[in-house]
Amino acid sequence: MSSLYRKYRPNQFSELVGQDHIRGSIEAMLKSNQIGHAYLFSGPRGTGKTTLARLLARAVNCVGKKKGVEACGVCEICLEIQNGQSVDVMEIDAASNRGIDDIRELREKITFAPTRSKYRVYIIDEVHMLSKDAFNALLKTLEEPPAHAIFILATTELHKVPETIISRCLRYQFHRATPDKIVSILKEIAVKEGIKLEDDAAQLLAERAEGSYRDALSLLGNVSGEKDLNAANLRVLIGLPSAEVVSQLLSAVANGKPQVVASLLKGFVQEGLDVGVLVRSMANSCREQIFSSQGADVGVAAPLLEELLVALAKARQSIDATSLLCASLISASLARVSTGSQEASLVVTNEPSSSSVTDLSEKELPSAPAVDTVSATPVKVDDTGAFWPSFLAAVHEKNHALYAVVSSANFEGLTDDKLIIAVKFRFYSERLFEPKNRNLIETIASSITGRKLVLECLVKADLDSGTNKEEDLLSTVVEVFEINE
Ligand SMILES: [Zn+2]
Repeated sequence: MSSLYRKYRPNQFSELVGQDHIRGSIEAMLKSNQIGHAYLFSGPRGTGKTTLARLLARAVNCVGKKKGVEACGVCEICLEIQNGQSVDVMEIDAASNRGIDDIRELREKITFAPTRSKYRVYIIDEVHMLSKDAFNALLKTLEEPPAHAIFILATTELHKVPETIISRCLRYQFHRATPDKIVSILKEIAVKEGIKLEDDAAQLLAERAEGSYRDALSLLGNVSGEKDLNAANLRVLIGLPSAEVVSQLLSAVANGKPQVVASLLKGFVQEGLDVGVLVRSMANSCREQIFSSQGADVGVAAPLLEELLVALAKARQSIDATSLLCASLISASLARVSTGSQEASLVVTNEPSSSSVTDLSEKELPSAPAVDTVSATPVKVDDTGAFWPSFLAAVHEKNHALYAVVSSANFEGLTDDKLIIAVKFRFYSERLFEPKNRNLIETIASSITGRKLVLECLVKADLDSGTNKEEDLLSTVVEVFEINE
């Protein structure tokens, strides 16, 4: 998968991409032979942390070094380290289950002198993932490291590394490579690989890689079957959305058109394209608007950009990133539906004889007075306690999509002839009042209570019922729009 990355992995300090600030200081340290015992490399993924760790392990141990600070790359020690076969260079992936065992083993063996090289080097990748016990064990080791030991800790999430560990390390912050830098490297490698890579295609790959040298090379590797790459065929090959789709979606979200958002997303997902890529493209487009704007669009683009970035961050930790991102986009558009009356609570009650309200648009909504919660307080009857759970169970049995909406609603009460519930979004209430849904709700409610009930639905923007946590809400939105994969 990342074979191009492996093939062109930097082999010397001078080949590290975009980390000149680190290179200078590491080289100076090697020149003066002031080797530290603990290093902490932090920064985004794919920016060369592990690569530099291995280069450093080689540089301190190489036996064929002539002059300067670079390892020779050809002596036995260099080759062993390069191939991951050195008994004196141990790589630990803290994200794996073995993390704690590895640290324990490390502590046991740490006192032994290196077998073949000058230094024993421990590279601990994603160190922030270590358990508390493992951190404590590591800390004890870092407090009194043997002279022959070097620790290189790498992390993408510095804030999760305990201060006690950080304070014992020499710290290096890795930067994302600039798009220009990545473009020039991609073009260089494309030439070596016999690929004709147009400028616009290289630019697109660099954008997509977001400063990760590794991602850029992986992407190029994935499409290297095509020997003539331009922006147009590249978009298709890596599943990048067209500029039109991105701008349509942005406008639908910004203008509060959840149905349009849902249908665009549905098409996108059905084509098997990556929603994460789509959302990143939307974020990029927002960012460009902010930078290029005269001020007028910033008010729209900036909050939207923030929401998109939050969604992307959440998606990274979600087991179902696609649904989460779809839901986030729909939520963002839902939140913009009722601009101007966001804080106002509305009563959306239909006349009992009302016919179809399926395509209820904002204009066609019955003129709704702001609710006076006191006068609207329903007369509670004895059966309310048992009513709601039975009602939910019955709806669940009959219609899952409807249940998704109803279960996020708040039960306000029953009167002699009304079932009153509250929902967070007007859109939900529109859904509930679709004839088949309303019919089902009223039929179930009537059969449970034994009297004829009519649905009344309040829209409360600030509704925050116990079950209405954000995650639930998002998954509900997805179900409502039936955009599960
Ligand atoms: Zn060497």
